[in-house]
Amino acid sequence: MIPSALLEELNRQLNRELYSAYLYLSMASYFEERGLNGFAHWFKLQAKEELEHAMKFYNYIHERGGHVEFYPIQEPASNWDNITGLVKSALEHEKEITRHINHLIDLARKLDDKPTEVFLYWFITEQVEEEKAFQELLQVLEYAGETPQTVLMLNAKLAQRK
Ligand code: MG
Repeated sequence: MIPSALLEELNRQLNRELYSAYLYLSMASYFEERGLNGFAHWFKLQAKEELEHAMKFYNYIHERGGHVEFYPIQEPASNWDNITGLVKSALEHEKEITRHINHLIDLARKLDDKPTEVFLYWFITEQVEEEKAFQELLQVLEYAGETPQTVLMLNAKLAQRK
């Protein structure tokens, strides 16, 4: 059995991953509305990945005989000043997710739940990738500036995500 304090935090994290999917879908919409289909495609895949993260928590909680709790999903932002601002907020969001994962691992250790600790390691590696993806986008936007050329170049590049 997962200790109850840890189970609650795992359920909260499941909810955060669902919120992440919601947020990235909202960002995808922002790009759809501006005809930037490459960005929209990338963010839709990102949203799908977040659903997969949520499912990892869902499956793990059930595997351990725990009860999955469904909390309300927060309404995501739907407008940003510009693309740079949007990417900055996505990066901040992922950094916050990383902090939550780190906190979850600390809690699993404190409560001596080794299976949960090991389960969470995958997310440590994943968070490095998530932060890196947004960091790289932000670097290009800040280095080259958010000009039509930069945006169209990125739009073409992001369209290629598999
Ligand atoms: Mg995630």
